[in-house]
Amino acid sequence: MKEISLKACAKINLGLDVLRRREDGYHDLRMIMQSIRLFDRLTMRRTKAEGIRMKTNLPFLPVDRDNLVVRSCQLLMDEFNIREGVFVDLEKHIPVAAGLAGGSSDAAAAMIGINRLFDLGLSLQDLMSQGTAIGADVPFCLMRGTALAEGIGEQLTRLPSPPRCHVLLAKPDAHISTKYVYTHLDVGALKEHPDIDAQIRALKNRDLRALAQAMGNVLETVTLDICPQIGKIRELMLQGGAIGAMMSGSGPTVFGLFEDREAARRTLEELKTLEGLQMAVLTDMFLTDESSTHCREQQTKE
Ligand code: ATP
Repeated sequence: MKEISLKACAKINLGLDVLRRREDGYHDLRMIMQSIRLFDRLTMRRTKAEGIRMKTNLPFLPVDRDNLVVRSCQLLMDEFNIREGVFVDLEKHIPVAAGLAGGSSDAAAAMIGINRLFDLGLSLQDLMSQGTAIGADVPFCLMRGTALAEGIGEQLTRLPSPPRCHVLLAKPDAHISTKYVYTHLDVGALKEHPDIDAQIRALKNRDLRALAQAMGNVLETVTLDICPQIGKIRELMLQGGAIGAMMSGSGPTVFGLFEDREAARRTLEELKTLEGLQMAVLTDMFLTDESSTHCREQQTKE
């Protein structure tokens, strides 16, 4: 196989709780992770010349080792002492630094690509163990679907998918660094924690409303103050009929869950009139049964 085309999908957190700050500076988390149908596309091909080269449609993204795609290719190519090269064309659709794990998902897709292109024979589990070295979200981005993530996010337990619903995403035109959010989070002062166990029960009972009711993200205690747009978007979504709305990851993207597509569509139109919005899109969830097919290979050329 000489060329492969892969889809890297974004994630949202249906619940995000921080349990404690660890000695090493990281935080112990408890999160419900959910893949959504918003994809970057990677086209990868083997090259005779050694090395990893890439291009991307976003001019401000690095194309050297600072890009997680290059780093994850390098990890596997070094380990297997691969004497050929690879070229990656990365087409970004997932907004960057948005709380949607775009970079981690690209890294995950690149690992799948290298494994296939060079017939390395690694299992998904092997790739997931290696992926942690690139980033805490990479194992989930390899697994996809719905999962409980613990530790720094790398300890995963597969969960049943939520019942089908519509996911409205909106990203304020603001940059919030993940590092800033975690360093300014006062875990001891948190008054409320999302009920992650209730969310797990709701998923097992296929109860979308109970799942939405237990939604919560403790990182909003930091971001709502520095980016009021987050609160505005959330309010607008709830007024528009969302059964739950909150910030994903460390933000600033906000998502709302809708049972009614028409209500979601109307709210999307309203959101578009808001000032200071970078992106708004209506999508849905990428379910656990789909993820097992590893839909990444859209077409392969010999
Ligand atoms: P998370 O939800 O895991 O915190 P995020 O969605 O907030 O991630 P990313 O889009 O993954 O953030 O990007 C974070 C940073 O990583 C950016 O500043 C960017 O320069 C760098 N980066 C490296 N590789 C990539 C990539 N392939 N796509 C996007 N960003 C990348």
